[in-house]
Amino acid sequence: MKIIADLHLHSKYSRATSPKMEVVTLTEWGKKKGIDLIATGDITHPEYVKELKEQLVEDGSGFLTLRPFGKLRAGEDQGDKIIKFVLCGEISCIYKHKDKTRRQHHLLFFPDFASVDQFNQELENRGCNIRSDGRPILGLSSKEILQILLDVNSEAFLVPAHVWTPWFALFGSKSGYDSVEECFEDLAPEIFAMETGLSSDPAMNWRLSALDNITLISNSDAHSPLNLGREANVFDFQEFTFAELKQILKDEDPKKFLYTIEFYPQEGKYHYDGHRSCKFSCSPEESLKHKNICPVCKKPLVLGVDHRVVALADRELGFKPENKIPFKSIIPLYEIISEVLGVGKQSKRVMNLYEEMIMVGGNEFNILLELDKEKIATIGNDLIAEAIMRMRAGKIYAIPGYDGEFGRVTVFNNEDLNHFKPKQKELFL
Ligand SMILES: [Zn+2]
Ligand SMILES: [Zn+2]
Repeated sequence: MKIIADLHLHSKYSRATSPKMEVVTLTEWGKKKGIDLIATGDITHPEYVKELKEQLVEDGSGFLTLRPFGKLRAGEDQGDKIIKFVLCGEISCIYKHKDKTRRQHHLLFFPDFASVDQFNQELENRGCNIRSDGRPILGLSSKEILQILLDVNSEAFLVPAHVWTPWFALFGSKSGYDSVEECFEDLAPEIFAMETGLSSDPAMNWRLSALDNITLISNSDAHSPLNLGREANVFDFQEFTFAELKQILKDEDPKKFLYTIEFYPQEGKYHYDGHRSCKFSCSPEESLKHKNICPVCKKPLVLGVDHRVVALADRELGFKPENKIPFKSIIPLYEIISEVLGVGKQSKRVMNLYEEMIMVGGNEFNILLELDKEKIATIGNDLIAEAIMRMRAGKIYAIPGYDGEFGRVTVFNNEDLNHFKPKQKELFL
C-alpha cells in the first residue's frame, strides 16, 4: 500500500501558526495534497491533546482517524481516502552540555494517548512548562528526554529534527554537536532516523559516512495548511500500522521506503552563509576566504546548512552510498502557478487555478509527480505543464536562502519567458 506521510508540522497551539492548523482542516488539506498519514504536531500540549481526544479515534493500528460525528461521518466526507494521524510533537531542549549551550529540536512519536499522557506527566513532574507553547522549551538534555520517552513506552521513538539548521539542531553550527554519540552518549543506538530539514537534501547528507546507518526522512514543518507536504516520505506499507512505520524507519529497506519528496534545498532559509541585516550571503567556500567574518559588519557570519555539511563531510558531493533511499525534488504547485501567471503566490488567481487543477488532477502530488505533460496542460495550461516537466528534470534556477531568509527557486529565467511570452499571451486572452 503506497502511503505518503508528512511527519512534522505544528498546530494552532504553537507560536506563529495559522489558526487553521487543526485536524479537520488538516484532513481536508491532506486530501488536496495527496497525503495519507499526517503528524498531529504539538503532542506535548495538554489542551491540544484534550482536543485531539475529542476529534480523533485510535483505530488499533497505533494511528488515528477523525471521529465520525456531525457532518464528518466516517466514509462520508472522508470519501474513499481515509487520512490517518500519528501522535507526534516537537520539543526544544535548551541546556548546558560540555561547557556549551545546546539547543536541540526533536520529534517524538507515540503509539497511543496513554503514553502521551504519561510522558507529559513526567515532564510536568520535572517542572517543565508544557502549557504555554505547542513546541515547548525544556531545560532537559536530549539524552534525558530520550530516556524518559523510552521508559514511558519503548515502542515510542525520537527523531532529531531538521538536523542541520544553525540555531536549533543536532548538527547546527551555533548550538549543535559533531556526532550523534556526542549528543546521546550511550543512548545513541536508539537514534535510527533523522529529519534532513528544508535546507538540505539527502544527496548532501550522503557525504557523511557517519550517517550511512541513519534513515533520512523529510517533512514539511508546516505552520499553515498550504505548506503541508512541501516535503514528505513515500512508503509501501504491508500493514498500515505505527509498528510498521517504526520498523521501516529502522530497516531503511528501499522496497518499503520508496523515496522522499524534497524542497530544493536552496529554497530553505539556512542553505547558504550570511547576514540577513547586512544583505550579505555567500557559499561555504567564499565564507572561508572571509574567515567566516561578514565583510559588511565584521561580525561572525551565520553559517548555513551547506557549510556545516561541508565541514563534517568525508565524501565529495555526488557520492551515493549503497541502499540509501532515493528522492525527488519538487516545487509546490502554487509556487509554479504563481511564477507562470506572474502574480503573488497566495493571490486569488493563483489559489483559484490551484483549486481547479486539484479538483481535476486528483491531488497535488499526483499532478507534480505522476500526470503526463498533455494531461497537465489540459487541467492547467501549456506553460505550467512545461514548468512541471522542467522541475521533474531538475532544470531550475536558484538563489540560495541564508540567515533566516527563504531562497528563491524558479523554473524559468527572463530569456525563457520571452521565448514563451507570445504563447502565454494567447493563453490568457
Ligand atoms: Zn524545529
Ligand atoms: Zn553582517
